Amino acid sequence: MADAGAIIGRAFARGGVDVWGVCDFDPALLTVRTRAIARIPTGARSIVAAAFPYYVGAFAHRTLSRYAMLPDYHNVVSALLAEVCAALRSAFPTERFEPFVDISPLDEVEVGVRAGLGVRGYHTQLINPRYGSYLFLGEIVTTLRLPPSTPGPEGIACLGCKACVRACPGGALDGQGRLDVSRCLSHLTQKKRLSAEEEDAVRRGRLVWGCDVCADVCPYNRQAAYSPVSAFYRNILAVLTNNNLESAGRAWNWRGPEVLQRNLRLCGEHGDQMKCQ
Ligand code: SF4
Ligand code: SF4
Repeated sequence: MADAGAIIGRAFARGGVDVWGVCDFDPALLTVRTRAIARIPTGARSIVAAAFPYYVGAFAHRTLSRYAMLPDYHNVVSALLAEVCAALRSAFPTERFEPFVDISPLDEVEVGVRAGLGVRGYHTQLINPRYGSYLFLGEIVTTLRLPPSTPGPEGIACLGCKACVRACPGGALDGQGRLDVSRCLSHLTQKKRLSAEEEDAVRRGRLVWGCDVCADVCPYNRQAAYSPVSAFYRNILAVLTNNNLESAGRAWNWRGPEVLQRNLRLCGEHGDQMKCQ
């Protein structure tokens, strides 16, 4: 019988991914209702969860959220998960392997905790001891029974310092580990129509797309290791202008240029550089 763990480890390692684990499939993990839920295999037994670290440098003068500076993570993560699935299907042809990224119907942070990738922080994100919370998450749900990992890495816990809660410019974190999406700047910069109050919030923000404040103040992120995923270093775009906002292969492309043009206007573009704070 093929060693599934070795196959998974080798396939992830080829893409530079060194943080992955397994947890049992549990219907209670299906918390997000998306059409993708139809892809959960009947008879699912295990979930392979992986973290794709995305810290690629300080970029103090960026006007895009850290994740948005990179080539679209949907493409990068999907391609890596597809490679792992292909390797597993080849070894276990009678089993099903379904990859999920971003529109996952799973509670991805809880899956990550159960699979031993990290712990949940008060900023609601998964914290890994090596890479902090600068992580994209991806999962493979499978009918193959895999041995589960030990939940939550030892020696790490959210410090409870609440620096993330205090620093949040939108007051979106309640201090109990919950996020009010409607107050989150990251959400507002992606919203098509904004109220006058929401426009003010975007105007006061530092970024044209997204918000990294709660992540950047977290002590675990101060010394986050650089991403080992080489694909994230190709074609980094840190400053958005009216001249490059239609760059292909970016995480914001789905929203179309109008929302970005509005955000640039709100933040006040001057020449090629943003004036946001
Ligand atoms: S992304 Fe920004 S606005 Fe949203 S919770 Fe974090 S600090 Fe608050
Ligand atoms: S800033 Fe402090 S409270 Fe917030 S997630 Fe990080 S360690 Fe936890």
